[in-house]
Amino acid sequence: MQDFLETDIKFLAGVGPKRAELLKNELNISTYRDLLYYFPYRYIDRTKFYRTAELDPDLPFVQVKGVIKGYMTEGHGQNKRLIADFADETGVIKLVWFKGIKWVPSTYPAGNEFIVFGKPGLFNGMINIIHPEIDPVSKIAERISSGLQAVYSTTEKLKSQYVTSKTISKLVGNLLKQIKFRIPETMPSYLVSRYKLMGLHETLHKIHFPANPDEIEKSRYRLKFEELFYIQLNLLRYKINRTRKTSGFVFSQVGETFNNFYYNNLPFSLTEAQKRVIKEIRRDLGSGKQMNRLLQGDVGSGKTLVALMVMLIAKDNGYQSCLMAPTEILASQHYETISSLVKGLNVKVSLLTGSSPARHRKKIDESLKNGSLDILIGTHALIEENVVFSNLGLVIIDEQHRFGVEQRAKLWQKSHNPPHVLVMTATPIPRTLAMTLYGDLDVSVIDELPPGRMPVKTMHFTDSERNKVYGFLRSQIAEGRQVFIVYPLIKESEKMDYKDLEDGWDNLSRVFPPPKYCISIVHGKMTPSEKETSMKLFKDGYAHILVSTTVIEVGVDVPNASVMVIESAERFGLAQLHQLRGRVGRGADQSYCILMTADKLPKEAAKRIDVMTRTNDGFEIAETDLQLRGPGDLEGTLQSGIPFDLKVANLGKDGQLIEYVRNIAEDILSKDPFLENDQNQILSSELKRLFSLKQSWSNIS
Ligand code: ADP
Ligand code: MG
Repeated sequence: MQDFLETDIKFLAGVGPKRAELLKNELNISTYRDLLYYFPYRYIDRTKFYRTAELDPDLPFVQVKGVIKGYMTEGHGQNKRLIADFADETGVIKLVWFKGIKWVPSTYPAGNEFIVFGKPGLFNGMINIIHPEIDPVSKIAERISSGLQAVYSTTEKLKSQYVTSKTISKLVGNLLKQIKFRIPETMPSYLVSRYKLMGLHETLHKIHFPANPDEIEKSRYRLKFEELFYIQLNLLRYKINRTRKTSGFVFSQVGETFNNFYYNNLPFSLTEAQKRVIKEIRRDLGSGKQMNRLLQGDVGSGKTLVALMVMLIAKDNGYQSCLMAPTEILASQHYETISSLVKGLNVKVSLLTGSSPARHRKKIDESLKNGSLDILIGTHALIEENVVFSNLGLVIIDEQHRFGVEQRAKLWQKSHNPPHVLVMTATPIPRTLAMTLYGDLDVSVIDELPPGRMPVKTMHFTDSERNKVYGFLRSQIAEGRQVFIVYPLIKESEKMDYKDLEDGWDNLSRVFPPPKYCISIVHGKMTPSEKETSMKLFKDGYAHILVSTTVIEVGVDVPNASVMVIESAERFGLAQLHQLRGRVGRGADQSYCILMTADKLPKEAAKRIDVMTRTNDGFEIAETDLQLRGPGDLEGTLQSGIPFDLKVANLGKDGQLIEYVRNIAEDILSKDPFLENDQNQILSSELKRLFSLKQSWSNIS
């Protein structure tokens, strides 16, 4: 029976080799099972009839009963079309054909009554339906009893080969007719009954051919439940396996260096949130299990300090640490910050990036090997093969989303025992999403900013108000403040973006002319040392304005910069806008974020701008982001957590269900951690089927 579902789609009645090829290429449908799991995205109610007078072009597909009054043709050649007047007692609409001009009038003779189905449009002030579906009125009873008709998404290519939504529905119908057995369950029966799920066999019928909305809801619920449940079960299973199988280095003590730092070097007192998080991490480090922890904290919440203190614990226990950052600028900034924080203590810190000279590298290699180096900071140059630690005990990754899964995997192999891993991210992730993306990590949150920070004021201006904005910048600069101006950089239109940046810079140098003003520029096409020089001009306070593409997005700390201007803000995603805004508001002065946009905005963009001006709360912004566009784009994080496309569930909208099924999965695993009980056999075989190919990611993070 299982084998039957694996049958090549080309053998299905109505398919054949050519269509099979198409279905495979366009919709990824190559077997019977694939077709069965190709779900409709909406349904049309075939029980409802409209009157012609009720039609307007905003309506989706409609169904109307009336009489074809007569035909005529218009236009010539390619443009030739057949038009019919179609009338009921409330009015007349036009039916239009570009194809089938020869056979339509004889098939549907004028003067007769028909049911017409299609999408209303508007042309020359008249409502029309192009290429309607037509049935004789005698089919009314059948139509009404057929209830809801499934609509499947197709592609232009498929449509041009006459594979429409309706064709797909027919194929599914053919397939279901052939299935003479009960489709085997993919969930244990005790779960199906306990959680009142629709059985799989019924579900796969009803989702394609529902008789009423209730059946749609129940079958969708069953599918969502299952989809989310298996994701959680898989994540939790790995977590259990890892903690049972691997052991971690034990950092049992907080020693001399840590205490020295804490009592002598710490420039301010820790926030309560920082204290709590450090405690959580210490508990992990002392537990004998390998730590895998995600540290979430809004921009400016003080993650670097936490990272340093954890690395000092590693040193006190005789281990080396490394701290990886996504860009050279950020890596060298961490290096400077950390070096100055540990001044006077016996801690050896080095910086290693792609542009470190060979001589420097050699020194580092030596000190790594002989164990004299305590902390190595760098970019992904750190994970190159030839960087060899003598006893790496802790790896900290800053701004995690920039690091691919494979890159993290390499780190893992750097040491025969896996080092403790702390992943730090400033991208606020809603809880339910974190549960799915990082379901096998433990999560700590710094939910408090250091005291004395004034919330950033966010304002929205359009291009026509530019002069007002420049006036404001002048006054801020006159008060000794510095300004970031950021331009979008989107890969696909890189050229255009650089042009924007250059034009912007030209314009700015006119508005803020030298020698009174100094403008510094940083963008992706500069060499690291050029970037470094420009950044330094700004950091040291010589440049009043830093113009850049989004390279500064991550982590740059210039407390005197109090204004962030984001050009073409409508082109940025919410997460990015929030990150950029976090670059200001680090000093004691009132800071501002200015969102510049075109005068007219698309609806979604207007919503993003609105949220930004309304709140500074990263989590609220993340929630909104998730609702606006779904989780698919969240900084590419999704690929790391879910090995297949979600078909029914939506991580943004199904938060409650995610929590619900996670608890269920936890409960099952707590009683049967390796899924060995008879009643759980289905679970382990389904896990194998769903995840076997893509397992490798799970034991990395
Ligand atoms: P992020 O979490 O964005 O990486 P950083 O670690 O860069 O934040 O910290 C932002 C700023 O806050 C830095 O200038 C840092 O020195 C400062 N800071 C960190 N912790 C505290 C604290 N407990 N009290 C005051 N300032 C702090
Ligand atoms: Mg940071």
